[in-house]
Amino acid sequence: MERIGIVGAGAGAAAAAFALEDATAETSVTVLEKSGGLCGRAATRRRDGVVYDYGANYLKADDERVVELVTERLPTDGLVDVDAPVWTFDRDGGIEPGRDADDHKWSYERGLTQLAKRLFARTDATIHRETRVERLVRDDAAGTWTLEDAAGNPWGPYDAVVLNPPAPQAAAVLETSSWDADPRDSLVAALGDVSYRRVWTGVFHYPFELEVPYYALVNADKDHEVGWVSREECKPGHVPDGESLLVVQANREWSVANEGRDPERNLAELAAVTAGLLEDDRLTDPDWTDHQGWRYAILEDGAPSEPLRRAESAGLYCVGDWVAGEGRIHAALRSGLEVGERIGADRRR
Ligand SMILES: Cc1cc2nc3c(=O)[nH]c(=O)nc-3n(C[C@H](O)[C@H](O)[C@H](O)COP(=O)(O)OP(=O)(O)OC[C@H]3O[C@@H](n4cnc5c(N)ncnc54)[C@H](O)[C@@H]3O)c2cc1C
Repeated sequence: MERIGIVGAGAGAAAAAFALEDATAETSVTVLEKSGGLCGRAATRRRDGVVYDYGANYLKADDERVVELVTERLPTDGLVDVDAPVWTFDRDGGIEPGRDADDHKWSYERGLTQLAKRLFARTDATIHRETRVERLVRDDAAGTWTLEDAAGNPWGPYDAVVLNPPAPQAAAVLETSSWDADPRDSLVAALGDVSYRRVWTGVFHYPFELEVPYYALVNADKDHEVGWVSREECKPGHVPDGESLLVVQANREWSVANEGRDPERNLAELAAVTAGLLEDDRLTDPDWTDHQGWRYAILEDGAPSEPLRRAESAGLYCVGDWVAGEGRIHAALRSGLEVGERIGADRRR
């Protein structure tokens, strides 16, 4: 029986657990996730009959293996297309028909978290939420790992460990770990090369419909306080008829400058900017709001692969968008599938 410990329950981890199920005959997989939910930055909330993806907006059909996974290997009930187009706007707020109109975009009626939920449901993995891993302990003689959580509890031992947190959080776990300085320090240094764009997201609900022809607006010249505005009502099953829900993502500079400010002030400012952009004064007065500051939102630079592969010889595997080098759900899923298969192959050796 191979014992595998997974840190984090994002899309990458879920795909790794799914692939492991096929790749190794006898495995016991334990997942430790610091938050209360599954699927990490592909995040969904519910309120008053509304479902909204407040992190990643959709899954793109940009990877053949992931397309096969989603359309053939996982249940497709409630898998929905986001058909309406994405238009662009510039720094002066000029809106143009535009980008990506024909690309395939998916969510689920019950939201993007379904991805991890459906992947894990296909496995026998045991998932422990609200369990933050703080350090790894290596036993070289036994060739195993133990995980230590924030309360000091040990988990394991495991024959292999999969690290799914965004690179800076994975580095924090590694830095305090008891493991040979050489592989640990070069891995931590590689993780230090990874960078992310911060995004502050405002969510605005309205008891009326918007009459516009697009699903979303993206700022093409990256010189507007708002980078993205999208309408969850364009995703089937997300918003009841006669209502609207806008997801507004501030641009990098605005997000960095205003992260620590009173969220109500941020929401009021983003609502006003959005009302100006869409030329609709009603948007300054949502009937409810939500928000999230994403510190590690969109990957900018991934990690070099050599130190990651070296760590694998000690049974330590990394998965996620930063491993794939692309800040997208499909890239995280692909990385998870590949790592799950590699663990299976390595354990059979
Ligand atoms: C605002 C925003 C918009 C985006 N838009 C899109 C989009 O439209 N399309 C798209 O494809 N992608 C989009 N992305 C990017 C996409 O969400 C990510 O690329 C993808 O979800 C990354 O998955 P992952 O498995 O690599 O990591 P994550 O989703 O970050 O999962 C890592 C998990 O590890 C957990 N964790 C961290 N530290 C610990 C610890 N110490 N112990 C235990 N658990 C821990 C976290 O809680 C999390 O659940 C967006 C992201 C954001 C934030």
